Amino acid sequence: MMARPFNFAAGPGMLPQAVLARVREELVDWRGSGMSALEMPFTGPEFAEIQAGAIERLKRLLTIPVNYHVLFLQGGAYGHFAFVPLNLLRGRTRAAYVETGHWSRRAMAEARRYCSVETVASSEPDGFTRIPPRDVWRLSPDAAYCHITTNETAQGVQFHWTPETAAVPLVADMTSDLLSRPIDVARYGLIYASAQKSIGPAGLTIVIVRDDLLGEALPGTPAVFDYKRQADADSRVNTPPTFAIYVAGLVFEWLAEQGGLAAMERRNRRNSARLYAAIDAGGVYRCPVAPPDRSTTTPCFRLADESLEADFLAEARRRGLLNLQGHPAVGGVRVSLYNAMPDAGVDALIDLMATFARQRGRSAP
Ligand code: PMP
Repeated sequence: MMARPFNFAAGPGMLPQAVLARVREELVDWRGSGMSALEMPFTGPEFAEIQAGAIERLKRLLTIPVNYHVLFLQGGAYGHFAFVPLNLLRGRTRAAYVETGHWSRRAMAEARRYCSVETVASSEPDGFTRIPPRDVWRLSPDAAYCHITTNETAQGVQFHWTPETAAVPLVADMTSDLLSRPIDVARYGLIYASAQKSIGPAGLTIVIVRDDLLGEALPGTPAVFDYKRQADADSRVNTPPTFAIYVAGLVFEWLAEQGGLAAMERRNRRNSARLYAAIDAGGVYRCPVAPPDRSTTTPCFRLADESLEADFLAEARRRGLLNLQGHPAVGGVRVSLYNAMPDAGVDALIDLMATFARQRGRSAP
């Protein structure tokens, strides 16, 4: 019989088994309340307890300073590509974006509906294989904010440093790497992330925003995506994604039990380093991303002979290594190493890579 499969999906992605077991245990009757978390009114005391607990735990995990609001919204990161300019332009007409791959380009396209988008730096000429170093950025002090995508989920390119942007607020799409490592929240004006990669079910979008940036949304901004109105209403201007918030709260608890984000970072670094060593050995696989900018969260690679990729992915599926295909815009192989991926999943993948290279790969020239 095949051992338990490992799900390498980029999102919705793998959740901790312990959290899923807890959800199953509590599903029909949440802690003797006579209601499932799926059935609770969002205005009642039970849900208020779930939401407050989740916010509290997230604040502790990320050491979020007191002058920040945590919002639990909907719309997905793609929605917030538009809601960020709507909320943060604050009378300005220009916003600065660092173009590093598929998702930053999507964010820029949405922002162009509302303002003039200045490309501060771009790695497009390099095929999105690196993060442009800070000293080549052209950041105008008039920009309403400077936007980065900390992990380009499609290309496997990641910021391993936090850019200095002086008085221009730094805004980050952390959809694929929020909670994969400790961050200094105070360096950012706003952080946003869809939850469905490593935090919880689809439907929840987390926004962490500094108070002084709130309150000047463009006229015409929908009430439910006006960050100030949501901050004032504890994210309950309308019905929040209640079940997703409940599950995310359990994931935050699990993360704390695992030793918090420093422990997650250690494990993610160790496992991604083992994987990149396997990619770089022997000439059968190749990763085009510059080593300092390689993602520890979503390593992407190609087979040197791309005609073997379909066979590699089929063999992976046979071994219970699921959803390793790259983003449709990029192709190749993508390995999502979210927090719930056990070391054994990485062991199994490295084992497959070695066997496949021996049997099918050509040797290095
Ligand atoms: N940004 C990044 C970095 C992503 O990886 C994704 C989803 N893959 C998105 C934004 C879009 O998220 P959603 O589909 O939840 O809107």
